[in-house]
Amino acid sequence: MQAPTPAALDAFWMPFTANRKFKRDPRFVTGAQGMHYTMSDGSQVLDGIAGLWCVNAGHRHPAISAALKQQIDTLDYASNFQLGHPAAFTLAERLADWAPADLNRVFFTNSGSESVDTALKIALAWHRARGDAGRYRLIGRARAYHGVGFGGISVAGIAKHRNAFGPLLNGVDHLPHTHDPKRNAFSRGEPLHGVEHADALEAICAVHDPATIAAVIVEPIAGSTGVLPPPVGYLTRLREICDRHGILLIFDEVITGFGRLGARFAADRFGVVPDLMATAKGLTNGAIPMGAVFVREAIHAGFMQGSEAGVEFAHGYTYSGHPLACAAALATLQVHQEEDLAGQCAAIAPYFEDVLHALRGEPAVADVRNLGLLGAVELSPFPGRPGVRAQAVERRCLEQGLLVRALGETIAVSPPLVVSRDQLAGLAETLRAALRHVDA
Ligand code: PLP
Repeated sequence: MQAPTPAALDAFWMPFTANRKFKRDPRFVTGAQGMHYTMSDGSQVLDGIAGLWCVNAGHRHPAISAALKQQIDTLDYASNFQLGHPAAFTLAERLADWAPADLNRVFFTNSGSESVDTALKIALAWHRARGDAGRYRLIGRARAYHGVGFGGISVAGIAKHRNAFGPLLNGVDHLPHTHDPKRNAFSRGEPLHGVEHADALEAICAVHDPATIAAVIVEPIAGSTGVLPPPVGYLTRLREICDRHGILLIFDEVITGFGRLGARFAADRFGVVPDLMATAKGLTNGAIPMGAVFVREAIHAGFMQGSEAGVEFAHGYTYSGHPLACAAALATLQVHQEEDLAGQCAAIAPYFEDVLHALRGEPAVADVRNLGLLGAVELSPFPGRPGVRAQAVERRCLEQGLLVRALGETIAVSPPLVVSRDQLAGLAETLRAALRHVDA
C-alpha cells in the first residue's frame, strides 16, 4: 500500500495521539506476524505492548485468521436483536465455562469502553429492578482508566481524560489510588503496603448513606495510568466492604483478562470474585473489535422477573455479538486452550520480572512494577518537562526496533504471552540502551 498523501494525513484525526507531532514525522505499520510488526521501510519491530495490550497470542495467529476468513464467507452480519445466530450463543457458553465462579451470563459489546458503560448500566438497572432505585452512586478510583464513554470517564480518574468535557455523571465518587512510591518502589508483583486504601470505601459510605451506592468499579491492576498492581489484600478488602453494604463490585478486566496475569482473569489470579466483569481486547486477540460483560447468574436473574412481553434490559449495540467477532473469539479461546497461553505467561513472568528489575540503577529509573506479563518502568521527568523523557525513550526504542508505550512518566511493557526469553532479554537491553541514550 502507498504511503498516505498529505491530504490523507490531514484527514485522519488520530485517537489519543499528538496528531501534529506524529504527522510531522509519521511512522507506518504495514504488516505483522507473531511477535513483530513490519514497518513501511521494511524494518521489523518487536511488539512489546501486544498491539495495545490485546494481541495476547501474537499477531495473525493462523487459527484466528482462518476462522475469520471462513466466517466472512458464511454469514457476514446478523443482528442479535430479533434473530440470533448460533456462534454468539456458543461463544457465550464457552465464556461462561471460562469465567470465574458464577459469572456465567454474557452481554456482548464492541470495545472496552462499551463494556464498562454496559456494566455500569447493568449495576444501576439491577438495583432498580429490585425496587432499590435509591442506589444511584457509582464509585471509581483516582488514576483509573475505564475507556472513553461518558460512564467510563465519569468513574475514571485520569484528570486530563475528564476535565476537557465539563460536568460528567452525577453521584460519582472516587477512591484514592494505591500508588505509594515511598513505601512500595521496586515491588515485585503485589506491593506489600497499602491494603488500607480500600478502607476509603468505608469513609465514602460514612459520608453518603451506603444504601445510595450502586457499584464500585476498579481495574484489578490499573493499566493506562502506568501499571499499578494492587497492594496485597486490597481487592479482598474491597470485596468485603462491598458485601457488607450491598454494593456491587465491578472489575474492569479489559487489560487483565484473557491470560495476561498468568491466569484466565485477574479475578482468578487474586482469588476475588466480582459481580460484573468488563472485558474486551484479548477476547478476539485484537483481530476484530469485541467486548463482553460477564454477569453473575443472580444479577442476570434479577432482570428476568417481570413480564415476558417486553425487553428485559433496554440496552445493546447493532454489532453486539457480531458473527465475525464471535468467530475470532471462539478461535482465540481455542488457542488459549491448546497453547495454554495463561500457563505460558505464568511460566515466563518471573523472568520478565527479573529483566525489568535489572533496569534499576539505570539513568532516571525511579520505579519498576510488574505482575504477569504487565510491567512498567517509571522515570523521573526532565525538570519542568513532564512526560518528555518517557516519550523520548519510547521514540528511541522504536528507532532501535522495539515498540513500548510511554504513559506519563512510565514506559509500559506488555508483550504477547508467547514471547520468548530471548525476546524478553532483547527487549530489556533495547530499553536499557534507550534510557542511557536519552540521558546522554
Ligand atoms: N478499560 C481499560 C482498563 C482499558 O485499559 C481500556 C483501554 O485501554 C478500556 C477500558 C477501553 O477500551 P477500548 O479502547 O476498547 O474502548
